[in-house]
Amino acid sequence: MSQRIRQVFPTVRKIAIQVTFTDADQASDMSWREYALTPEAEHPVKFGCPDRECISGGFDLSEAISEAIASNLTVTQGDLGCPGWAETAGGGKARCLVGLYYRLKIDYVAT
Ligand SMILES: [Zn+2]
Repeated sequence: MSQRIRQVFPTVRKIAIQVTFTDADQASDMSWREYALTPEAEHPVKFGCPDRECISGGFDLSEAISEAIASNLTVTQGDLGCPGWAETAGGGKARCLVGLYYRLKIDYVAT
């Protein structure tokens, strides 16, 4: 069951997220996509893997967000690897090599 940002992080007014993906060659077009989460946005905060063949992949930014808020940070950045995998031509499994870079900007409610 998903919660809302305000239930998990009551001090947060807004979270601005920028993400971009890299492929297996670490190549990235560095076109950043931007999202703005309000307190009514769903938690956990997840992004799907852009590789269509990827199975059980995706990126969960909840931990990064919760660490940033625990440290009272207003900006942070980092990267995550996809935990998914794809079927190889021989029927085996190959780890997904897609990566995600993120930048967070967190606004807090005035206290
Ligand atoms: Zn993936």
